[in-house]
Amino acid sequence: MRSGQGVIAAVVVLMFLAVGTIQARTVDVGGARVETRMAGKVECVPLSAVAAALNGKYWRVDNRFVMVLPGDSARPGREYVLRADSTCALCDSRRVILPAAPVLDSSRLYLPVVALPDLFPSTSVPDLTTIDTARRGDTLIFTLGGQCRPGEKFAGFGDSRSSLEYRLVIGARRDSGLGQQIALLSLTPPGMLKTVTLDSGTGVSLGFSFRQPAAERLTVLQDRVELRVWPRPDRAIKRLVLDPGHGGEDPGALGRNGTREKMVAMDVALRLKKKLEKQGFEVTLARDTDKFVSLAERSKCGNNRKADLFISIHANSSANRAACGLETYFLSEAKTDWERVVAARENAAFDTGESSAGLSADGDVGLILADLAQNEYLLESSELAARIQETTVPYARIKDRGVKQANFYVLRNGFMPAVLIECGFLSNKSEEKLLRQPEHRERLAEGICRGIVEFAKLHGPKADGSQTGGSDPRALKSKS
Ligand SMILES: [Zn+2]
Repeated sequence: MRSGQGVIAAVVVLMFLAVGTIQARTVDVGGARVETRMAGKVECVPLSAVAAALNGKYWRVDNRFVMVLPGDSARPGREYVLRADSTCALCDSRRVILPAAPVLDSSRLYLPVVALPDLFPSTSVPDLTTIDTARRGDTLIFTLGGQCRPGEKFAGFGDSRSSLEYRLVIGARRDSGLGQQIALLSLTPPGMLKTVTLDSGTGVSLGFSFRQPAAERLTVLQDRVELRVWPRPDRAIKRLVLDPGHGGEDPGALGRNGTREKMVAMDVALRLKKKLEKQGFEVTLARDTDKFVSLAERSKCGNNRKADLFISIHANSSANRAACGLETYFLSEAKTDWERVVAARENAAFDTGESSAGLSADGDVGLILADLAQNEYLLESSELAARIQETTVPYARIKDRGVKQANFYVLRNGFMPAVLIECGFLSNKSEEKLLRQPEHRERLAEGICRGIVEFAKLHGPKADGSQTGGSDPRALKSKS
């Protein structure tokens, strides 16, 4: 695996993970082991578990929770009054200010781990005492000392998409020395680190910002948490145009239950846009409202935006009600009757209105020139279609009708790899039902997104700025 690919693969893996699952652990509460869990972004223990572990009782009075722990020969009994969202608690009628407020979730009260020592003096909660930095090549390694556990983390682009912002909330108390170490680190930030801040709030909240797009990996070890950050090279494929088919007076295909293709295409495109933007792509929609946009304008949108990829999204229809599944097209002469049928239907908008202007006004010459524009990207387009087909079929669990080719006007004039996806058949009863489900459209968008990311990975630049190619040697050529 080339290093560039490794980096992007790591980013992809990271991006596809939801907020990481945090390993459960136990803390010692007054001599009993209690398992922690995340309540929102705060590492907590349920009040019920604490009461059970200490043979106590608890009950709720309005918005207050009262817990009574029995005494023994060694110590007297104790009584607590706790309130959700309030850092003020009572312990044997004595006021205690907690570093973090208890959390109410599904009418259960959760106590933040960082607040336990103030309530149960013999509790030991890890302090976050040290932050060390080291460099290994381009990689910056931050080591957070102590048995701390990361709670919420956030990694995203900075303002200009030319940097990385990273925030980490840790279920530990901060040591007074930590603030000094961080102040020191900010004075002489190593490598690509721009700033690091220690924010107040529950537990320890660290904010990092880096000077350039970067990939990151967080590892939780027994005695420390490691954050590794390394530069992520710019992708060769950055700008995408998504073209939700039809719109306005042109509803596209109609399902038997009245589902309109233009709505399905728009919804999948919007979901896909969101996902692709999360992956760092710049995404433009060829139409962003329910209006009629000519095929020529859609195609022009790709060129005007200097898009690296053009993706047109549609839903299928057939006189054969049994027909179902996903097919992805690239521009070429149709080889089968079916491909011609689909192209004829999708090109119908071309025959109406002013949509032909600028496309074939020059008659045959215009068509030949248009074909030449796409000819150059034929292999890449077919490869992109294959990636999308490969990733979407299993993810959305639909029938694979394969990569197909036909003469779509909307793909003809683009100076970039371009594909048209038929997301399923509105003419098929069960597939129409599926296409009406937001969850299914989400899966389609996720599958398509993965295909595009896979494709971009194969056509991304290496760390030295030169490009790595897929199977097509023309992918090596830079597009200016
Ligand atoms: Zn269509």
